[in-house]
Amino acid sequence: MRHARSDVMSVAVPLEAGGCGVSHSRPVTNGVPDEVWTLTCPACEVFLAKDPLWSATEAEIPETPDEVKIREDNEKRGQKALERSQKELSGRLVEVVEQLASAQTPAHAAEPDPGLIARLVEAQVAKILAEQAHPQPSVKIIPATVEPEPEPVEMDLHKLHWKTLQKMCRERGLPDDGSSKDEFIRRLKVTA
Ligand SMILES: [Zn+2]
Repeated sequence: MRHARSDVMSVAVPLEAGGCGVSHSRPVTNGVPDEVWTLTCPACEVFLAKDPLWSATEAEIPETPDEVKIREDNEKRGQKALERSQKELSGRLVEVVEQLASAQTPAHAAEPDPGLIARLVEAQVAKILAEQAHPQPSVKIIPATVEPEPEPVEMDLHKLHWKTLQKMCRERGLPDDGSSKDEFIRRLKVTA
């Protein structure tokens, strides 16, 4: 079987050329030549195998110059349509990314995605492992809040014996004369 280019309407391979000598014509259906003409003539097929206007398979039917031009135009159109749709797609992607970025409101930020948390945890673990491998000189940790000095418990001087109060006065270099508890307490409180 041989398939003719669409503009070949008839063929006749002479007997001298190995053909059957009979003229073959493209079939016509309802007054219109068939789009595909498949010739079955063993004698002529041998000769037509070397003819560039004929092909072995239907898929390989040679194109006419017009058909080549139409196909190339279609390919260009298809390429342009493809480029257009790619442009549109990338434009749409940019929009989506921008929308996602603008959707990162503080409300969202308050709930970091699990992936982010996992990455942060990983980073911390890696840091800890690195520190274990290369111990850092120990750093004294200063607490953020300094503990207040314990408030001196105000001794209830009135509960003490006047002799104790006198002794306290003497220890602090205060006058220890007199025997009035109130006087000793007054002196002690003044210097407190
Ligand atoms: Zn023939």
